Amino acid sequence: MLCRRQARENKALSIPQAACPGTRCVTVMRTDKRSLELVHSIIGVLLIRRARPAEVGGLVCYSMSFLVGVVMALRFDVLIIGSGLAGLTLALHLAQQRKVGLVTKRQLLDGASSWAQGGIAAVLASDDTTESHIRDTQIAGAGLCDEGVTRYVIERSRACIGWLIEQGVPFTPEAGNEFPYHLTREGGHSHRRVIHVADATGQAVQTTLEGKIRAHPNIELLEHHIAIDLITGAKLGQSDNRCYGCYALDTVSTHVKTLSASHVVLATGGAGKVYLYTTNPDTSTGDGIAIGWRAGCRVADMEFIQFHPTALYHAHAKLFLISEAVRGEGGILKLPDGTRFMPSHDERAELAPRDVVARAIDFEMKKHGLDCVYLDITHKPAAFITEHFPTIYEHCKGLGIDITRQPMPVVPAAHYTCGGIMVDSQGRTDIPGLYAIGETACTGLHGANRLASNSLLECMVFGMAAAQDILAQSPAPSPALPQWDESRVTDADEEIVISHNWDELRRFMWDYVGIVRTNKRLERALHRIRLLQDEINDYYRNFRVTNDLLELRNLVLTAELIVRSAMMRHESRGLHFSRDYPGMLPQARHTVLVR
Ligand SMILES: Cc1cc2nc3c(=O)[nH]c(=O)nc-3n(C[C@H](O)[C@H](O)[C@H](O)COP(=O)(O)OP(=O)(O)OC[C@H]3O[C@@H](n4cnc5c(N)ncnc54)[C@H](O)[C@@H]3O)c2cc1C
Repeated sequence: MLCRRQARENKALSIPQAACPGTRCVTVMRTDKRSLELVHSIIGVLLIRRARPAEVGGLVCYSMSFLVGVVMALRFDVLIIGSGLAGLTLALHLAQQRKVGLVTKRQLLDGASSWAQGGIAAVLASDDTTESHIRDTQIAGAGLCDEGVTRYVIERSRACIGWLIEQGVPFTPEAGNEFPYHLTREGGHSHRRVIHVADATGQAVQTTLEGKIRAHPNIELLEHHIAIDLITGAKLGQSDNRCYGCYALDTVSTHVKTLSASHVVLATGGAGKVYLYTTNPDTSTGDGIAIGWRAGCRVADMEFIQFHPTALYHAHAKLFLISEAVRGEGGILKLPDGTRFMPSHDERAELAPRDVVARAIDFEMKKHGLDCVYLDITHKPAAFITEHFPTIYEHCKGLGIDITRQPMPVVPAAHYTCGGIMVDSQGRTDIPGLYAIGETACTGLHGANRLASNSLLECMVFGMAAAQDILAQSPAPSPALPQWDESRVTDADEEIVISHNWDELRRFMWDYVGIVRTNKRLERALHRIRLLQDEINDYYRNFRVTNDLLELRNLVLTAELIVRSAMMRHESRGLHFSRDYPGMLPQARHTVLVR
């Protein structure tokens, strides 16, 4: 199968890579209308200015080189799509030995990793054990955690934290401890094992790594580039389906570039934006999951969407996460009249896993017709609160809520995508040469529900594992790749179609495929998804791609994968709760979708 434009008419003229030895380019003839217009106008300006013949000659050559060369395929040993913790860990572990292209659709720090507050779970305290962390992970995962993978990840947790300390991450210290850093406790953990930088861990980790990435001579950072689709052997009509690179829209120049590499890694994060209420940043639109699926990867366990129980509820502000650590440090959930309700839902009360707490809040809100419930930590000293939760304190204060004196209004919100592209313990997908790491991947660690603070750990462990696997292979030569063909498309005429469909999708996903599901709601959602897909695919075929269109196309596909997976699970397990199947089946099975 060729890419959408090439499927209609393959106008790209490829010039073999050998034509430009010593460069990292594959040249391809550019044939789209806008390039030709640009070349014509350069020559036109020259003629009008009566340029000297030598000048004209030079510029005609330049114009030709634009025609032939400006959209040369950029060539790397490894192409990483996504600059979250997974992508940055991988890039830094490869860059001593490989040329790395790091593509990210906004700026380097834009992604969920920078938003992580609570911290990173690891076996660090002297009274903690690997077995205990594994057990807690498996209890949260409700029988679906892969035991080998869970052990693999947790056994590497201490080394990952050691690597971050070496990089210079300023973890919150604690004097008088054998281990010199403060460890917090979060829901579902039986020990204090979450290392953190106050309540802005992700920001500290990402900014520390950012400096190293930007300074590294072997890493070429392509910000404001959104990957569209992979280029695989199957798309090139070859018998094998190896991945050779991808097309990416440069959202500043609005040109689509061809990026070629021996190995390609999807590290694009999760899909929280599929829901109306989410703690995720705008970048979390399921791109990698949709891109991998379109290329032929299997996806697994997509029905397991974690709803964070406590996002700050405010009529005039974007949802803001109130970290699990607030409950870990003694925060109590209350109804508006001050009644504590968690003990009547679970013996672990506020420290129960997220799915239990989110469902309890959903239940209480529906029962009492509430817009929100309240999280109260006012019984702790003010200095303790401002020291442990400075970001949350400042954010709430900015909205007129003093959390040292007032409870915080909170609601649940879509937070984490447990499922994703199926990978093995090195992050390899079904497609040779293609890897998936971080939230985009389904490694088997999280099972039916992610244990708090295990995800940043997973990003690092799989970033390192993929690096090791890639470094064990020699970079393979890639064939010349056809260029993206825009000759038959025009600029979109009605952007409102995109924003309307975007809103509609997110709203019905929240209403029908949220914390509590039923067969009927899922059927309704799938029906609407099909209608939207027809419209969006039609739009995609006829109009020039934009960032919003690409994200919407990925969101609606990810939504389809979530709903289809949810329909296949005839039980309630972990994060998937169905009123039609409230019980849990004796045997735990993964939901695997095959294209
Ligand atoms: C508010 C919040 C708090 C959290 N707190 C914690 C915590 O305390 N501990 C913990 O372990 N986990 C936490 N998580 C979860 C954790 O942050 C994420 O699971 C993790 O950061 C995912 O990392 P990633 O590298 O896979 O993706 P991300 O960090 O989301 O990065 C994805 C990257 O891919 C880019 N991208 C996406 N699509 C494309 C495309 N098509 N082309 C090019 N680039 C693309 C994005 O711009 C971004 O750079 C939290 C999440 C949120 C939202």
